[in-house]
Amino acid sequence: MEGPAMEGAAVSTALRSVLCRIQQASERSGRPSDRINLVAVSKTKPISLIQQVYDAGHRCFGENYVQELVEKAPQLPADIEWHFIGRLQSNKVKSLLAAVPNLDMVESVDNEKIANHLDCMVASIGRRPLKVLVQVNTSGEESKSGVNPSGCVELAKHVRLGCPNLEFSGLMTIGMLDYSSTPENFKTLSNCRIEVCNALGIAEDQCELSMGMSADFEQAIEMGSTNVRIGSTIFGAREYPKKE
Ligand SMILES: *Cc1c(COP(=O)(O)O)cnc(C)c1O
Repeated sequence: MEGPAMEGAAVSTALRSVLCRIQQASERSGRPSDRINLVAVSKTKPISLIQQVYDAGHRCFGENYVQELVEKAPQLPADIEWHFIGRLQSNKVKSLLAAVPNLDMVESVDNEKIANHLDCMVASIGRRPLKVLVQVNTSGEESKSGVNPSGCVELAKHVRLGCPNLEFSGLMTIGMLDYSSTPENFKTLSNCRIEVCNALGIAEDQCELSMGMSADFEQAIEMGSTNVRIGSTIFGAREYPKKE
Protein backbone atom coordinates (compact mmCIF):
# COMPACT_ATOMS: atom_id res chain seq x y z
CA MET A 1 0.00 0.00 0.00
CA GLU A 2 2.75 2.45 0.74
CA GLY A 3 4.73 4.31 -1.86
CA PRO A 4 5.04 7.72 -3.44
CA ALA A 5 2.89 6.79 -6.42
CA MET A 6 -0.12 5.74 -4.40
CA GLU A 7 -3.29 6.52 -6.33
CA GLY A 8 -6.44 8.22 -5.13
CA ALA A 9 -8.40 4.98 -4.97
CA ALA A 10 -5.68 3.54 -2.80
CA VAL A 11 -5.87 6.37 -0.26
CA SER A 12 -9.57 5.85 0.32
CA THR A 13 -8.96 2.13 0.78
CA ALA A 14 -6.12 2.92 3.16
CA LEU A 15 -8.38 5.32 5.08
CA ARG A 16 -11.05 2.64 5.48
CA SER A 17 -8.47 0.14 6.63
CA VAL A 18 -7.09 2.56 9.23
CA LEU A 19 -10.60 3.35 10.50
CA CYS A 20 -11.23 -0.36 10.84
CA ARG A 21 -8.00 -0.90 12.78
CA ILE A 22 -8.92 2.03 15.04
CA GLN A 23 -12.28 0.44 15.71
CA GLN A 24 -10.71 -2.90 16.56
CA ALA A 25 -8.14 -1.32 18.87
CA SER A 26 -10.84 0.72 20.59
CA GLU A 27 -12.85 -2.44 21.17
CA ARG A 28 -9.80 -4.02 22.77
CA SER A 29 -9.46 -0.94 24.96
CA GLY A 30 -13.11 -1.16 25.96
CA ARG A 31 -14.01 2.24 24.55
CA PRO A 32 -16.36 3.22 21.73
CA SER A 33 -14.43 4.07 18.56
CA ASP A 34 -16.40 7.28 18.03
CA ARG A 35 -14.44 8.68 20.97
CA ILE A 36 -11.20 8.35 19.03
CA ASN A 37 -10.39 11.09 16.55
CA LEU A 38 -8.27 10.40 13.49
CA VAL A 39 -6.05 13.22 12.26
CA ALA A 40 -5.00 12.38 8.69
CA VAL A 41 -1.50 13.86 8.52
CA SER A 42 -1.08 15.25 5.02
CA LYS A 43 2.32 16.95 5.24
CA THR A 44 4.26 16.91 1.95
CA LYS A 45 1.20 15.46 0.17
CA PRO A 46 -0.52 17.18 -2.77
CA ILE A 47 -3.94 18.83 -2.65
CA SER A 48 -5.37 16.22 -5.04
CA LEU A 49 -4.60 13.37 -2.65
CA ILE A 50 -5.99 15.25 0.35
CA GLN A 51 -9.14 15.93 -1.65
CA GLN A 52 -9.49 12.17 -2.27
CA VAL A 53 -9.41 11.46 1.44
CA TYR A 54 -11.91 14.29 1.97
CA ASP A 55 -14.16 12.81 -0.74
CA ALA A 56 -14.00 9.49 1.08
CA GLY A 57 -15.72 11.29 3.95
CA HIS A 58 -12.85 12.35 6.19
CA ARG A 59 -12.75 15.88 7.62
CA CYS A 60 -9.86 16.16 10.08
CA PHE A 61 -6.37 16.75 8.68
CA GLY A 62 -3.03 17.66 10.20
CA GLU A 63 0.00 19.58 8.95
CA ASN A 64 3.20 20.45 10.71
CA TYR A 65 4.69 23.27 8.66
CA VAL A 66 2.98 26.67 8.80
CA GLN A 67 3.98 27.66 5.29
CA GLU A 68 2.60 24.45 3.83
CA LEU A 69 -0.70 24.67 5.69
CA VAL A 70 -1.11 28.33 4.76
CA GLU A 71 -0.71 27.40 1.09
CA LYS A 72 -2.92 24.32 1.14
CA ALA A 73 -5.85 25.25 3.38
CA PRO A 74 -7.39 27.91 1.09
CA GLN A 75 -7.38 25.42 -1.81
CA LEU A 76 -9.36 22.82 0.10
CA PRO A 77 -12.94 22.73 1.46
CA ALA A 78 -13.70 25.10 4.31
CA ASP A 79 -15.29 22.43 6.48
CA ILE A 80 -11.97 20.66 6.98
CA GLU A 81 -10.90 20.76 10.61
CA TRP A 82 -7.19 21.45 10.52
CA HIS A 83 -4.87 20.45 13.32
CA PHE A 84 -1.47 22.10 13.48
CA ILE A 85 0.94 19.51 14.88
CA GLY A 86 4.42 20.98 14.31
CA ARG A 87 6.84 23.35 15.92
CA LEU A 88 5.24 26.79 16.02
CA GLN A 89 7.21 30.03 16.04
CA SER A 90 5.66 33.23 17.36
CA ASN A 91 6.31 35.12 14.15
CA LYS A 92 4.25 32.61 12.15
CA VAL A 93 1.15 32.64 14.36
CA LYS A 94 -0.48 35.62 12.70
CA SER A 95 -0.29 34.22 9.17
CA LEU A 96 -1.44 30.81 10.37
CA LEU A 97 -4.58 32.19 11.99
CA ALA A 98 -5.30 34.61 9.15
CA ALA A 99 -4.98 32.04 6.37
CA VAL A 100 -6.67 29.15 8.14
CA PRO A 101 -9.96 30.27 9.71
CA ASN A 102 -10.89 26.59 9.94
CA LEU A 103 -7.90 25.81 12.14
CA ASP A 104 -9.49 23.64 14.79
CA MET A 105 -6.61 22.86 17.08
CA VAL A 106 -2.93 23.50 17.75
CA GLU A 107 -1.56 20.29 19.25
CA SER A 108 1.94 21.51 19.85
CA VAL A 109 1.94 24.24 22.52
CA ASP A 110 5.00 23.67 24.65
CA ASN A 111 5.77 26.96 26.37
CA GLU A 112 4.00 29.95 27.91
CA LYS A 113 5.34 32.40 25.37
CA ILE A 114 3.74 30.66 22.41
CA ALA A 115 0.52 30.16 24.40
CA ASN A 116 0.39 33.88 25.17
CA HIS A 117 1.08 34.76 21.57
CA LEU A 118 -1.66 32.48 20.27
CA ASP A 119 -4.04 33.87 22.88
CA CYS A 120 -3.40 37.48 21.84
CA MET A 121 -3.62 36.75 18.13
CA VAL A 122 -6.88 34.82 18.46
CA ALA A 123 -8.30 37.81 20.33
CA SER A 124 -7.05 40.36 17.84
CA ILE A 125 -8.30 38.44 14.82
CA GLY A 126 -11.68 37.96 16.50
CA ARG A 127 -12.05 34.27 15.85
CA ARG A 128 -13.66 31.71 18.16
CA PRO A 129 -11.47 30.31 20.94
CA LEU A 130 -8.79 27.99 19.62
CA LYS A 131 -8.41 24.49 21.04
CA VAL A 132 -4.88 23.67 22.12
CA LEU A 133 -3.02 20.67 23.44
CA VAL A 134 0.09 20.89 25.58
CA GLN A 135 2.88 18.90 23.94
CA VAL A 136 4.88 16.83 26.40
CA ASN A 137 8.32 15.42 25.68
CA THR A 138 7.85 11.96 27.15
CA SER A 139 10.95 10.39 25.62
CA GLY A 140 13.53 12.87 26.86
CA GLU A 141 15.03 13.09 23.36
CA GLU A 142 16.51 16.51 22.74
CA SER A 143 15.38 16.48 19.12
CA LYS A 144 11.76 16.49 20.20
CA SER A 145 9.74 19.46 21.28
CA GLY A 146 7.52 19.44 24.30
CA VAL A 147 7.52 20.48 27.91
CA ASN A 148 9.08 18.05 30.38
CA PRO A 149 6.51 15.86 32.11
CA SER A 150 7.30 17.70 35.35
CA GLY A 151 6.27 20.99 33.75
CA CYS A 152 3.01 19.93 32.15
CA VAL A 153 0.73 20.86 35.05
CA GLU A 154 2.08 24.40 35.20
CA LEU A 155 1.72 24.93 31.45
CA ALA A 156 -1.74 23.36 31.33
CA LYS A 157 -2.78 25.66 34.20
CA HIS A 158 -1.41 28.66 32.37
CA VAL A 159 -3.37 27.84 29.21
CA ARG A 160 -6.56 27.09 31.10
CA LEU A 161 -6.47 30.00 33.54
CA GLY A 162 -4.29 32.59 31.83
CA CYS A 163 -5.32 32.36 28.17
CA PRO A 164 -9.03 33.19 27.83
CA ASN A 165 -9.00 32.84 24.05
CA LEU A 166 -7.56 29.35 24.13
CA GLU A 167 -9.43 26.23 25.09
CA PHE A 168 -7.22 23.79 26.97
CA SER A 169 -8.15 20.44 25.44
CA GLY A 170 -5.50 17.98 26.55
CA LEU A 171 -2.00 16.62 26.04
CA MET A 172 0.03 15.44 23.05
CA THR A 173 3.22 13.45 22.68
CA ILE A 174 5.37 11.85 20.01
CA GLY A 175 6.45 8.40 21.16
CA MET A 176 9.94 7.17 20.52
CA LEU A 177 10.08 5.06 17.36
CA ASP A 178 11.43 2.21 19.34
CA TYR A 179 8.92 -0.34 20.43
CA SER A 180 10.50 -1.03 23.75
CA SER A 181 10.14 2.54 24.99
CA THR A 182 6.89 3.58 23.31
CA PRO A 183 4.62 2.04 25.95
CA GLU A 184 6.62 3.92 28.56
CA ASN A 185 6.15 7.20 26.68
CA PHE A 186 2.41 6.64 26.41
CA LYS A 187 2.19 5.66 30.06
CA THR A 188 4.01 8.87 30.98
CA LEU A 189 1.47 10.95 29.02
CA SER A 190 -1.39 9.13 30.67
CA ASN A 191 0.12 9.87 34.08
CA CYS A 192 0.48 13.52 33.10
CA ARG A 193 -3.24 13.58 32.38
CA ILE A 194 -4.05 12.33 35.88
CA GLU A 195 -1.94 15.11 37.40
CA VAL A 196 -3.34 17.80 35.13
CA CYS A 197 -6.95 16.77 35.72
CA ASN A 198 -6.39 16.75 39.47
CA ALA A 199 -4.72 20.15 39.40
CA LEU A 200 -7.36 21.73 37.20
CA GLY A 201 -10.32 19.93 38.75
CA ILE A 202 -11.52 18.59 35.41
CA ALA A 203 -12.68 15.12 34.38
CA GLU A 204 -10.35 12.92 32.37
CA ASP A 205 -12.75 12.91 29.44
CA GLN A 206 -12.22 16.67 29.19
CA CYS A 207 -8.53 16.09 28.56
CA GLU A 208 -7.56 14.48 25.25
CA LEU A 209 -4.55 12.24 24.91
CA SER A 210 -3.05 12.75 21.45
CA MET A 211 -0.65 9.88 20.95
CA GLY A 212 -0.07 7.27 18.28
CA MET A 213 1.18 7.55 14.69
CA SER A 214 1.38 5.06 11.80
CA ALA A 215 3.76 2.71 13.57
CA ASP A 216 2.15 2.64 16.98
CA PHE A 217 -1.44 3.88 16.89
CA GLU A 218 -3.10 0.64 17.90
CA GLN A 219 -0.93 0.34 20.96
CA ALA A 220 -1.59 4.01 21.75
CA ILE A 221 -5.35 3.44 21.60
CA GLU A 222 -5.04 0.44 23.86
CA MET A 223 -3.21 2.73 26.29
CA GLY A 224 -5.91 5.39 26.26
CA SER A 225 -5.27 7.59 23.23
CA THR A 226 -8.24 9.71 22.14
CA ASN A 227 -6.56 11.29 19.10
CA VAL A 228 -4.25 9.49 16.68
CA ARG A 229 -2.18 11.27 14.03
CA ILE A 230 -1.64 9.08 11.00
CA GLY A 231 0.23 10.07 7.86
CA SER A 232 2.09 7.46 5.84
CA THR A 233 -0.32 4.60 6.45
CA ILE A 234 -3.05 6.65 4.74
CA PHE A 235 -1.14 8.73 2.22
CA GLY A 236 1.83 6.49 1.48
CA ALA A 237 5.44 7.06 2.44
CA ARG A 238 6.58 10.64 2.24
CA GLU A 239 8.73 11.19 -0.82
CA TYR A 240 10.86 13.95 0.66
CA PRO A 241 10.64 13.42 4.38
CA LYS A 242 11.48 16.59 6.19
CA LYS A 243 13.00 16.60 9.61
CA GLU A 244 10.64 17.19 12.51
C1 LIG B 1 4.42 13.37 10.54
C2 LIG B 1 3.76 13.32 11.86
C3 LIG B 1 2.82 12.34 12.18
C4 LIG B 1 2.43 11.21 11.24
O1 LIG B 1 3.48 10.32 11.05
P1 LIG B 1 3.31 8.92 10.29
O2 LIG B 1 4.36 8.08 10.88
O3 LIG B 1 3.50 9.20 8.85
O4 LIG B 1 1.94 8.42 10.59
C5 LIG B 1 2.22 12.39 13.43
N1 LIG B 1 2.51 13.37 14.32
C6 LIG B 1 3.41 14.32 14.06
C7 LIG B 1 3.69 15.37 15.07
C8 LIG B 1 4.07 14.34 12.83
O5 LIG B 1 4.97 15.30 12.58
